[in-house]
Amino acid sequence: METGRPLKLKECLYSIQDVSEVARKTLKNIVSQGKAPVPPVYEEEFYQQAEALGLNDLVLRLMASLPAGQVANLLINGLEKMVREIDSDLEAYGQDLSKHTSVIEKGRGRLLDTNGPHVEQVKITLDDIIRANLQMTAQLNSTRAKLREREEQVKSLRLKSRIDPLTGTFNRGAMEEDLTLEFARSKRYKRPFSIIMADIDFFKKVNDAYGHAVGDDVLRSFTRLIKKGIRESDTLYRYGGEEFLILLRETELGPAGVVAERLRSGIEGHVLKSKDDGGVEIRITASFGVAAWRDSDSSYMDIIDRADKALYCAKQSGRNQVVSSN
Ligand code: GH3
Ligand code: MG
Ligand code: MG
Repeated sequence: METGRPLKLKECLYSIQDVSEVARKTLKNIVSQGKAPVPPVYEEEFYQQAEALGLNDLVLRLMASLPAGQVANLLINGLEKMVREIDSDLEAYGQDLSKHTSVIEKGRGRLLDTNGPHVEQVKITLDDIIRANLQMTAQLNSTRAKLREREEQVKSLRLKSRIDPLTGTFNRGAMEEDLTLEFARSKRYKRPFSIIMADIDFFKKVNDAYGHAVGDDVLRSFTRLIKKGIRESDTLYRYGGEEFLILLRETELGPAGVVAERLRSGIEGHVLKSKDDGGVEIRITASFGVAAWRDSDSSYMDIIDRADKALYCAKQSGRNQVVSSN
């Protein structure tokens, strides 16, 4: 696939027959493994199945229609799987090689008390084979060590792929992963969780008045303030632009509203000092929408929708407010 050029819509289209065939097999596979067919699990299986079926072209086209974070995750999952497979292949080769060597060593041992015109030649040949096997084993071990280094690199890539580079908070891809897990956990164990959507008020004006660099600085300060105001078990994600989402684990709607109110008033009372523009002092406010998990929800998107509507309501009623979705 060509890179560096956005795909045209026509190129993103794929045969619906192919897709439904893979989807059918995939769903069967997921259900037979006792996994819940929640969308992201389904999606990952989907790609694995499609790849197993040799539909790589289809996979690439589908990936082109996904958000970048999700594509990165799928690629990293693929890389991790590949590294694991290569390592287990190498381990199997190593075991075969050492079995082979011990068979030859036994044969070589049986020749010890034997003499004859060709026996010496056979002994020398067997010694050569044993030496070659040892060399191969050493090479194999060093390749496996390199592979383990790669494994570490892939792991750190996975961590990096979850981070928003501007603010250092988790990004939207991480949010999708985490909310999927949290949602599945709540469904299963009937445990509560809440989310807060926060959007900086009139942020465009900050950019317009002080420039983009100061705007970026304000975003960083804002995330620092939020992080200070939430618990270890809560997670902050940059949802996009100047909009953030906080996941509050084991938290009902009421207490989540209290947290949001505390964050709101903390932000309102804080004077942000930008490093850019000679340390200009800026005051901002933000609006908040709060929603909690309900057993009747069919995916985490239902909760996000409610939080989004509550946030919209907070904006409509004058900004710098918290609205909870009851
Ligand atoms: P509202 O109170 O309705 O939310 O108004 P707003 O101005 O905050 O919202 P609007 O959606 O009109 O504008 C959002 C602005 O956020 C516009 C965009 O340029 C800015 N923005 C988004 N991402 C970034 C970023 O990474 N850095 C900077 N500096 N600005 C950003
Ligand atoms: Mg805004
Ligand atoms: Mg916004």
